[in-house]
Amino acid sequence: MEKLIKGLHHVTSMAADAKENNRFFTKTLGLRRVKKTVNFDSPEVYHLYYGDEIGTPGSVMTYFPFGPMPRGKRGVGEVGITEFAVPEGTLGFWQQHLVEKNVSGLREETFLGERRLAFDGPDGDSFALVEADPAGRTAWSGDGIGRDEAIVGFHGARFRLRDAAATGELLQFMGYELDETDGAVTRYRIEGGNAARTIDLEERPNADHANQGAGSVHHIAFAVEDRAAQLKVREALMDTGYQVTPVIDRDYFWAIYFRTPGGVIFEVATNEPGFDRDEDTASLGEALKLPERYRPYREQIEKRLPEIA
Ligand code: ZN
Repeated sequence: MEKLIKGLHHVTSMAADAKENNRFFTKTLGLRRVKKTVNFDSPEVYHLYYGDEIGTPGSVMTYFPFGPMPRGKRGVGEVGITEFAVPEGTLGFWQQHLVEKNVSGLREETFLGERRLAFDGPDGDSFALVEADPAGRTAWSGDGIGRDEAIVGFHGARFRLRDAAATGELLQFMGYELDETDGAVTRYRIEGGNAARTIDLEERPNADHANQGAGSVHHIAFAVEDRAAQLKVREALMDTGYQVTPVIDRDYFWAIYFRTPGGVIFEVATNEPGFDRDEDTASLGEALKLPERYRPYREQIEKRLPEIA
């Protein structure tokens, strides 16, 4: 599947409280809510999408806020850290900003030559801001965060795995190249795609498996340009023995899913048609958008969903 994968498309996680989730990603991290819709399999739960101005693939963090639920327990077999890119020289700003917003788990680190600031999300989610070249990406300047400091999209993600070998092989099959290694972490990088290009595999042979819950990443999605590319990727994966779902219409992209050897659920999602297919860019994410099959039930659905502003 030479050059078909273009980096990350989105990362989807689980949250407890919808209002708190919305507040954190828009007010604390300054992302734009680019879509307010529902979980297509259970419309009493929101599906909230946060990203840059238009929800460019490679910038989109999405959540299912399920309501009161236990927190996930970190372990192997999952995405351990979701990493956002910020412009070089801005970690000082972010440190101060996140302290002011009472964000927990703040620690500055250097890893593979990159300056990072780790922090926790509202449900104990593991995040890091990584200083990187913004490389032509345009940020959304949200609440109190100027364009010169704002998050420009994902940098990448770190998986924690008991055995990283098979997942490393899969990433290479998907077009990623083996990059640097630091201790137990091996970096894979994809060139020629969007800027959300690194996947780090951290091997922990003796760690317990993760228990998914609030704050856990549910799945991670990789970008392809269009449906033709997606079908080629699907065929290549199936030829290699992966069990891949049929193509599913997610209204803003088409999706296929498969489980990887290390336990992480992968999605491959199209860059088309995008989040502006049913709303103007100026008002993106404001109105509740429903997939066609739920539209007759809008009134009942709206009554059951919490107010999130
Ligand atoms: Zn997804």
